[in-house]
Amino acid sequence: SAKAAGRGTFAFFAPEMHSEAQDRQLIENDLRKAIGRGELELFFQPVVHAQSEALAGFEALVRWNHPTRGSISPALFVPLAEEAGLILQIGEWVLRQACAEAARWPENIRVAVNLSPTQFTDPSLPGTILSALAASQLPPRQLELEITEGVFLVESEATDDMFATLKGMGVRLALDDFGTGYSSLGYLKKTPFDKIKIDQSFVRGAAKRDSRNAAIVRAIVTLAESLGMDTTAEGAETHDELALIRSLGCSHVQGFIFGRPMPADEAAALARQNGAVAADGFQFNRPAR
Ligand code: C2E
Ligand code: MG
Ligand code: MG
Ligand code: MG
Repeated sequence: SAKAAGRGTFAFFAPEMHSEAQDRQLIENDLRKAIGRGELELFFQPVVHAQSEALAGFEALVRWNHPTRGSISPALFVPLAEEAGLILQIGEWVLRQACAEAARWPENIRVAVNLSPTQFTDPSLPGTILSALAASQLPPRQLELEITEGVFLVESEATDDMFATLKGMGVRLALDDFGTGYSSLGYLKKTPFDKIKIDQSFVRGAAKRDSRNAAIVRAIVTLAESLGMDTTAEGAETHDELALIRSLGCSHVQGFIFGRPMPADEAAALARQNGAVAADGFQFNRPAR
């Protein structure tokens, strides 16, 4: 599970004199103060239209600039925040910040925000989102919420209701990391996703040794298309991977080949350069082969 993976990584932090549990406690205490101290920062990674290579938007990815431990990955501290009961507070900060940044971009450039399953099952989520949209004046269609298959672990009417409520607000819904969790076609049938994000484990190396990955990506794209959903291939690093993704018909692509997660000001500059002309077929300025 995510929690187990988070715990396993504490060897990374642990000085010899601390037990893993003590170390976790120290980090949780720091995390509690991180928002107030302005130590959290949102980075933004470009998402590009696969065929035209026009910029489509950015995914907001949170970073923790710890005063002594340096930049800490969300893969490490998000599970911790869950455990410490801090994820709702952090999630709200992320939403407000992401909407405020995206409101500075052209309207055809979307922002995608990751929601943890805990946030998703919190009844105050719709209110939090409405408040972030109102404060920033961001149009709802410019906001895309990324949710993982984890939210379907517990079959519940509340989950279905939450999807319906969010959909009714006019925000977009994306299913993140598709294929890595407890994939079930049942929830694809009943849940109004606008987009499926194909996990990078199927994309990376798909062009080279592993034609099984290509077959899986092709099948997901076919499924998504017939359900009227977009697809983003995550984690494209090479020209070969990009060429394959395009030939398999993914609608969007995201990966280091187009850009790493970048600070908000860089993203805003890129959005202004590329967004205004994206509709006219502007090509995202990726490095030449
Ligand atoms: P994710 O939502 O699947 O985000 C994509 C991750 O893949 C990001 O890692 C991104 O930097 C990385 N990535 C993108 N393209 C490439 C590539 O070409 N190659 C490689 N090797 N990696 C690539 P990051 O930023 O470390 O985030 C990790 C995970 O942490 C995210 O996975 C998401 O599940 C979670 N996360 C990040 N920000 C937030 C947040 O604000 N809230 C919540 N709840 N979770 C977050
Ligand atoms: Mg994501
Ligand atoms: Mg993902
Ligand atoms: Mg992921």
